[in-house]
Amino acid sequence: MKKNSSGDSSGGVDKRMPLPGPRAKKLISTDKDLIMQSFSRWYPLVVDHGEGMYVYDVDDNKFLDFNAGIAVMALGHANQAVINAITLQAKKLIHYSFTDFLYEPALQLARRLQEIAPNGPKVKTYFGNSGAEANEAMIKSARWSTRRQYVVANTGAFHGRTYGAMTLSASKPVQRRYFGPLLPGVEHVPFPYCYRCPFKMSPDSCDLYCVDFLEEQVFEKYLPPEEVALFMTEPIQGEAGYIPAPDGYLPKLKRLLDKYGILLGVDEVQSGMGRTGAWFAVESSGIKPDYVSVAKALAGGLPLGALIGRSELMGLDAGSHASTFGGNPVSCAAGCSVIDQIRKRKLLEHVKRSGEVLMSRMRELQTRHEHIGDVRGRGLMIGVELVKDPVGKDPDRRGLEELITNCWKRGLAVIGCGASTLRLAPPLIVQNEHIDQAVDILDQSFIEVYS
Ligand code: PLP
Repeated sequence: MKKNSSGDSSGGVDKRMPLPGPRAKKLISTDKDLIMQSFSRWYPLVVDHGEGMYVYDVDDNKFLDFNAGIAVMALGHANQAVINAITLQAKKLIHYSFTDFLYEPALQLARRLQEIAPNGPKVKTYFGNSGAEANEAMIKSARWSTRRQYVVANTGAFHGRTYGAMTLSASKPVQRRYFGPLLPGVEHVPFPYCYRCPFKMSPDSCDLYCVDFLEEQVFEKYLPPEEVALFMTEPIQGEAGYIPAPDGYLPKLKRLLDKYGILLGVDEVQSGMGRTGAWFAVESSGIKPDYVSVAKALAGGLPLGALIGRSELMGLDAGSHASTFGGNPVSCAAGCSVIDQIRKRKLLEHVKRSGEVLMSRMRELQTRHEHIGDVRGRGLMIGVELVKDPVGKDPDRRGLEELITNCWKRGLAVIGCGASTLRLAPPLIVQNEHIDQAVDILDQSFIEVYS
């Protein structure tokens, strides 16, 4: 949507733009010449700058941002406190390599992570550069600490693109095709995706058979549990379609893993740092995991990943694991500022309230649009699964793609996940007026795409 004279949003609805604009078109053709095209983009948005809840493209079109740079920009764009923290630290020290030298911002952030960690307070942190690196560190720490070789993950999982993280991922074949051989010693078991139960059971009566399956069909048939180091899982699967594990799954899984001395690691790269209305999504399960991996929203948009592990699991030999840029002081200073502001502005409570508003608005939309098969999630991590019809539940990928493009043309930036799920992950500072605006655009887009 174009800015009106007050510089404010002009509402979006009924204002379709000729997109991409001329400058964007030019850059898109250059992109094809210069950049490896190994990612999948939903629509050609060429971002120029952002402010609060909005991003602007290179032709100065304005979009309400319900992506948050894919669950990264928790405090919105151009947050002044984060900019100040970055500027101050950049003037002092931009880099000196935490692999060989100590500096204070990394300790300051590690202290804050210790205070909020769901496996704390006796935890230590390893800093890398990304979610994938945090998960690689988790695999290495678990194998090293237990001297066991196997790692188990869920189908549908997404843990990153590096070899270990990729091997644990089981989200889409394209993410692995022709990349093999992958990491040995990795097994997968079904994730409790109750809307499409892999065992064709019902959550009312299954008694979480997915956990029994691990014991009865995996541990008792072919995978010696005493050789399993780690089970890595997402409390809410992200890439697979914003699918929360049902109540009871994590506690039951933890009891089984404890029986065999297997460590539990939760990947909170997407669901962590307040996105669900708690610091970490795992908190609502009441269990204490052995490891938590964090990235995305951790450093206000700068690259940073962290593995937070129980102290006794973080005793790896000197020289065994490190990264030149991991724990960069500017990223760590930004991370401290993010945590301080989430606290100061009481954003966890705000996310709970806004999440309820967004969820109920989307459920209301579901009553009017039969192609919305399922609305699920927690806080501001909400998935809206589109189906060809509500009974057959065939995923409607084409409908999703059209809907997302239609929203973009109306001034709302959203993307999808899984086979056919709309992914709603606005910055945590979203206000009810933004939710109203987004839902109105979605409503109009549903009408246009499905009529
Ligand atoms: N884990 C989860 C749950 C993710 O959603 C992602 C990225 O989307 C990753 C890991 C990988 O993070 P990164 O892209 O920072 O390596």
